[in-house]
Amino acid sequence: MFADLHLHTSFSDGTYTPEELAGHAKRHGFAAIALTDHDTVEGCELAGLACAERGIEFIAGAELTAEMAGYELHLLGYFIDIHNARLLEEIARFQTVRQDRIREIVARLNRVNVPLQAEAVFALANCRSPGRPHVGRALVQAGYCVNLDEAFDRFLKKHRPAWVPKFQMSVRSAIDLIHQAGGVAVLAHPGLNRKDEAIPELVAEGLDGMECYHSKHSATATEHYLQLAQQLQLLVTGGSDCHGLNKGQPLIGTIKLPYGHVEKLRAKAGQFGKLKKRSVQASLV
Ligand code: AMP
Ligand code: ZN
Ligand code: FE
Ligand code: FE
Repeated sequence: MFADLHLHTSFSDGTYTPEELAGHAKRHGFAAIALTDHDTVEGCELAGLACAERGIEFIAGAELTAEMAGYELHLLGYFIDIHNARLLEEIARFQTVRQDRIREIVARLNRVNVPLQAEAVFALANCRSPGRPHVGRALVQAGYCVNLDEAFDRFLKKHRPAWVPKFQMSVRSAIDLIHQAGGVAVLAHPGLNRKDEAIPELVAEGLDGMECYHSKHSATATEHYLQLAQQLQLLVTGGSDCHGLNKGQPLIGTIKLPYGHVEKLRAKAGQFGKLKKRSVQASLV
C-alpha cells in the first residue's frame, strides 16, 4: 500500500481538477493521497468526495509559504480541519496577497515591454490562489514565450525583471497555524531549499516531519534526508508534487510512499486533536 502526499489541483497552480486527480491516483493504485494546494484548502472537499467514490483514503492538506531569515520555505500541513476559522482567515489573507502580487508581476512585465494584462492571468488561473505558473502559462498562451521554462528563466524567477516576493508568514506562525487546525507540520522538499542548517531550528519551532521523498530529490538526497529525519526524530513523508502534465507526463506515480508513514502521521495528528480538546475543555472550566 502506497501514498502520494504532495499534489496540486486547479484550486492553485495545478491543472487537474480534484476529480481528475483522484482518477489518476486510482489508476496508479494509491491507497491514500493528500491534496496540498498552495495557500488554500478549497479543493479538499471535492477531492475527498472523489477519493471516497474510488475507495482511496483522502488526507486534507495545504502547502503554506513561510519565511525564515529571508528565505522562502514551504510547509505542508496534514490532517487539518478545513473548516478551522483561523486557518480560513489566514488563507483569505494569503490569497489577497497572491492576487495583488499577480498585478505587480504584470506591471513589471509591462515595464519591460511585455504588454500582458492581469485580467488575462486571472481568467486563465480561475482560482483564488494564483501564482507564477499562471503568469507563465498566460505568457505562453499570448505567444511571448515558447514554454513555461522560458517564462521562468526570462521573467519570473528570482533576479529576473518580473520577480516579486510573496508575503510570507514566519515559520513559527505557519507551524502554529497548522497545529491549531489539528494538523501535522512538515517541511516540504528540503532538497530544493539547500538550507539544512536551518532544520534544527525548525524542529525547535515545532516541526513534526520532513518530506524525504520528492520527485526532485536524487536518490542521494532522499537517503540523506531519511537519515536526518531519523536523527532529529522527525516523521517521514513523501510526494510527487504533481501539478498536472509535466513535459507531457504527470508526476503522480513517480513517488510511492509506504503506507506505514501515513499511519504515523495520523497518530501524531490524533495527539494534537486530543491536546486541543483538552485545552478547550480547560478553558471552559
Ligand atoms: P509561486 O507560489 O507563485 O511563487 O509559484 C511557485 C510555483 O511555481 C512552484 O510551486 C512551482 O510549481 C512553480 N515553479 C517554480 N519555479 C519554476 C520553474 N523554474 N519552472 C517552472 N515552474 C516553476
Ligand atoms: Zn505549485
Ligand atoms: Fe513547494
Ligand atoms: Fe507543491
